[in-house]
Amino acid sequence: RKVIKDVVCPFCGTLCDDLEVVVEDGEIVEVRHACRIGAAKFLTAQEDHRHTEPMIKENGEWKKIDYEDAAEETARILVEAKWPLMYGWSSTLCEAHEVGIEIAEKVGAVIDNTASVCHGPSTLGLQDAGVPSCTLGEVKNRADVIIYWGCNPMHAHPRHMSRYTAFTRGFFRPKGREDRTIIVVDPRRTATAELADVHLQVRPNEDYELISALRAAVHGIEIEREEVAGIPVEAVHEVADLIKEASFGTLFWGMGITMSRGRHRNIDNAICLIRDLNEYAKWTLIMMRGHYNVTGFNEVLTWTTGYPFAVDFSRGYPRYNPGEFSAVDVLIRGEVDAAFVIASDPGAHFPRKAVEHMAWIPLVCVDPHWTPTAELADLYVPVTIAGIEWEGTAYRMDSVPIRMRKVVEPPESMLNDVEFLEMVIEKVEEMV
Ligand code: SF4
Repeated sequence: RKVIKDVVCPFCGTLCDDLEVVVEDGEIVEVRHACRIGAAKFLTAQEDHRHTEPMIKENGEWKKIDYEDAAEETARILVEAKWPLMYGWSSTLCEAHEVGIEIAEKVGAVIDNTASVCHGPSTLGLQDAGVPSCTLGEVKNRADVIIYWGCNPMHAHPRHMSRYTAFTRGFFRPKGREDRTIIVVDPRRTATAELADVHLQVRPNEDYELISALRAAVHGIEIEREEVAGIPVEAVHEVADLIKEASFGTLFWGMGITMSRGRHRNIDNAICLIRDLNEYAKWTLIMMRGHYNVTGFNEVLTWTTGYPFAVDFSRGYPRYNPGEFSAVDVLIRGEVDAAFVIASDPGAHFPRKAVEHMAWIPLVCVDPHWTPTAELADLYVPVTIAGIEWEGTAYRMDSVPIRMRKVVEPPESMLNDVEFLEMVIEKVEEMV
């Protein structure tokens, strides 16, 4: 029986790095400090339901094949396609991203990750207006006013508030919760809103109006209305005064604002609010990233091609145009003629028309688990679990790279994402 300390949780973008995992006879028997979601990821990792060999669909029946043949078939599908899509990447490590991007370049694919259906608009907003950011450590030690806008960390990032914001003590915030003011902006009375000091129950799709009103109020401009986006103007002025008087504030935002009306314009405006606030106080912002390494893919693709997601290699050089080269769009328009999906599950989350096209074209699914995407695939390749059975690098939501640990040995003869992708690239090189 051994206790492995400082283990990093491979589930959400909080990337908690203080876990202790107890391993007995090669099996994970206990996980300490994790939230229920994180603990469940470790404790279910070794269950019997996992597939351990690649499978190919022939006449509607699944047939087991070896990794060598799976790599050959994957390479053939990618090379023979006129314009393949390589999508996913957010629940695997940066070492896999690196090899995947190289394959995309060699086969002239469009490559995209889950950011295009979550924080893609945030990225566009950041490119328009810049990003005054900081690390979660700075938030923990310094922040006295925290805004959660369009996100519900109590459910989606359960330890975020206890590790970095409301319920933790920091160097300059020794009294923890007493030293901090939490503001939640959300149309729903969420679990996070229940714990907040101020809940602005904005009308759905009117975030842009509320941000604009807050900007006006911060600058002392009179708002000639009784309410904005469902919020009485007096409350807007009260919150404006509160955030202006912060000594260190951080805005965390989620898909409630990136995927509501206005999308990247909401983020542009929110960044401008933070910029305005920096005339009076220190303010920063951080995206609430979902998949644990969605940030990592955006980082690796940016330092490889210059662009963070939705990149097309069909002309031999990278071109970036979300809306034209993002996965949902190329699928809905029926433009791609093969798809390679890794470490994500678009079969469960994409719009129906996109899923229909994915089911119609040759589809490869690489994932440790059997998913709705695997169900639709022509080739399914099970791999070992990153951050539990093999180690590498992931980026936390504040863009801090963290080394993920291996805690148990994977099932014998199984490959990890990097090993499989390296086999694919060899096959691709033989074919092109
Ligand atoms: Fe894992 Fe996120 Fe829970 Fe932390 S908050 S233990 S990273 S699921």
